[in-house]
Amino acid sequence: MRNVVFVGGGHAHLTALLHLQDLRDNNAQVTLISPSAYHYYSGMGPGMLSGWYQPREVRFHVKKMVEDRGASFIEDAVTRVDPENRTLLLGSGRTVPYDIVSFNTGSEIPFPGPELVQDNIFRVKPIVNLLSARDYLLRRIADRRLHIVVIGGGPAGVELAGNVWKIADDAGRRLQITLLAGTRLLKHFPDKVRTPCYRSLAERAVAIVEGRHVLRAADSTFVLDDGSVIPFDMALLATGVTPPAMFRRSGLLVGEDGGLLVNSFLQSVRYPEIFGGGDCISLEHDRLPRVGVQAVRENPVLYHNLLASLRGGVMQPFSPQRTYLLIFNMGNGRGIFWRGNIVWEGRLAFRLKDYIDRKFMRKFQVSGELTE
Ligand SMILES: Cc1cc2nc3c(=O)[nH]c(=O)nc-3n(C[C@H](O)[C@H](O)[C@H](O)COP(=O)(O)OP(=O)(O)OC[C@H]3O[C@@H](n4cnc5c(N)ncnc54)[C@H](O)[C@@H]3O)c2cc1C
Repeated sequence: MRNVVFVGGGHAHLTALLHLQDLRDNNAQVTLISPSAYHYYSGMGPGMLSGWYQPREVRFHVKKMVEDRGASFIEDAVTRVDPENRTLLLGSGRTVPYDIVSFNTGSEIPFPGPELVQDNIFRVKPIVNLLSARDYLLRRIADRRLHIVVIGGGPAGVELAGNVWKIADDAGRRLQITLLAGTRLLKHFPDKVRTPCYRSLAERAVAIVEGRHVLRAADSTFVLDDGSVIPFDMALLATGVTPPAMFRRSGLLVGEDGGLLVNSFLQSVRYPEIFGGGDCISLEHDRLPRVGVQAVRENPVLYHNLLASLRGGVMQPFSPQRTYLLIFNMGNGRGIFWRGNIVWEGRLAFRLKDYIDRKFMRKFQVSGELTE
């Protein structure tokens, strides 16, 4: 009997977790380690912030999913790997041995420094933080006109600014919303995507600040690098993600930004019994954008290769998707669709995103999530 351990029940593990009976049929004892019984789907996170989606529509009960299939669940986080002794060290101090291990632990908003840690500043990962941010805002929205600041000018920042607006719109209140976009709004995107985003946010009086960066926060005021100050009541931090430090700390080979370095079989370049997928990996000879689309596409490859490493057989290579569809949920029932040369803004774009996201959820919400 061999120990197969999944670390993190993220987007790239879902197919393997759904079919883990196949692993057990090949003489494996399976364990999932995750800090939470639930995994939240990031694509619907901004919609959960706005209240468009209920939490139960946006999450997978990964604990129930694996336990129903005869595997064990450990509610904990892995903090270190000892690849020579094939052992994982958990936050609680417990150790877990493995014969084969697969990591899908996602990425983090880097620790912003102690001066940006306040109970009214929410990091947008893990996605469940968006629920806390919503509750925080709803508890105060009736008091007075609040100023909400979103820090980060990438797609997450754009979606969050639009969806914060919806909370106020639904509550019949007004908010002052500022998006601190850093160098430039959507700096890695073409103008044809940026322009409708500006327009959509400007129509709702969201102020967009570019060319300035936050230096520090003190007493609910941000100090920017040009010396200006911005008072705020609540802030969302969406400043870009990096893989967890765990791999580097464990002495594993990592990519430039610290992701577990894997070959095209999603297998550690040094230890063939270690696999990984999603935002926590760095693909050898490649630099993939950290988007959920890649994690979703890695699903069948990880499942196949984990099975192949148990019973022998040919491994499947992962071929990253170079151009992919992105649809921004702008929070007003409208979306901005972008694929290659095609950009279009409107209600239909959001309806399409909603359809695609719900279809993905249906596939893996097999544990009664919608009736919770
Ligand atoms: C607001 C927002 C909106 C986004 N929208 C989109 C979108 O529309 N489309 C898109 O393609 N991408 C989107 N992204 C990017 C997307 O979040 C990531 O690319 C995606 O979540 C990566 O999936 P993952 O499974 O690798 O990581 P995650 O979704 O972060 O999942 C990692 C899992 O591992 C668990 N875990 C973490 N650390 C440990 C540990 N030490 N031990 C054990 N378990 C652990 C976590 O609890 C979690 O369940 C968005 C990001 C944000 C912040």
